[in-house]
Amino acid sequence: MKSVLDSIAEVAGYIWQKGWGERNGGNLTVNVTEYFVDKPTMTGERHPLGASFPYIANQYFYVKGTQKRMRDMARDPLSNGSIIKLSPEGDSFSYVTQPVAPTSELPSHLMVQNYLQQTGSRYKATLHTHPIELVALSHHRAFLEDAQRPNHLTKTLWSMIPETLAFAPLGIGIVPYQVPGSVELAKATLEKIKDYDVVLWEKHGVFAVGQDIMDAFDQVDVLNKAARIYLDALTYTAAHPDSEPEGMTDKAMLDVQRIFKLPTQRPC
Ligand SMILES: [Zn+2]
Repeated sequence: MKSVLDSIAEVAGYIWQKGWGERNGGNLTVNVTEYFVDKPTMTGERHPLGASFPYIANQYFYVKGTQKRMRDMARDPLSNGSIIKLSPEGDSFSYVTQPVAPTSELPSHLMVQNYLQQTGSRYKATLHTHPIELVALSHHRAFLEDAQRPNHLTKTLWSMIPETLAFAPLGIGIVPYQVPGSVELAKATLEKIKDYDVVLWEKHGVFAVGQDIMDAFDQVDVLNKAARIYLDALTYTAAHPDSEPEGMTDKAMLDVQRIFKLPTQRPC
């Protein structure tokens, strides 16, 4: 369990350093059920979740606290978040560690955690953060309209450097703008996360899943790096309008997919 908390603290520090976690921005959960061999009995008050999550009933999660800052979590994860246990019905929780009220986004994180357990996934972590360059691209209609130009954003990011395709082979899904914390946003996220490890919330941030919190962070980092390269390349275009960033060719990307035998869907 200590290694999980260390990892959470490390990722929270990276998010702050990268400027992705201003004030109390961003939140995360990690399923830590496997670390509670001697399951502590649930005592104390039950806090309703407002929905039922049957596949994660009786399970344990580290959850970032509401109004807590990533930069403070980096120093002390258990004062800026807490470990909770869901009730046998999966519709309320109790605190296992010192109570720190969970993020207001808890139901959307648990909706995804519930889906991951339902499908037998080994993924344990969910992460929401505000990566600057990806959010910047989400202000451009051309990258948002999947129906007009299918996977335009994914293909643009993949084409920046071969490693983007290798390390984020599922690409990035797009969730049209919804009010933060809304049920609509949670439901739209769940639909997209079935096909992608990282989804872009239009004009807001990203929501990512991973085998652990570092894995979720790495995927966002890889995709955001590609977005940054693209935007940096465009600064040259501003001075030389006849020169667009080329990107790797379709053939070069197909070669990477073939040579590295990249998956086209999430492994269990
Ligand atoms: Zn946010």
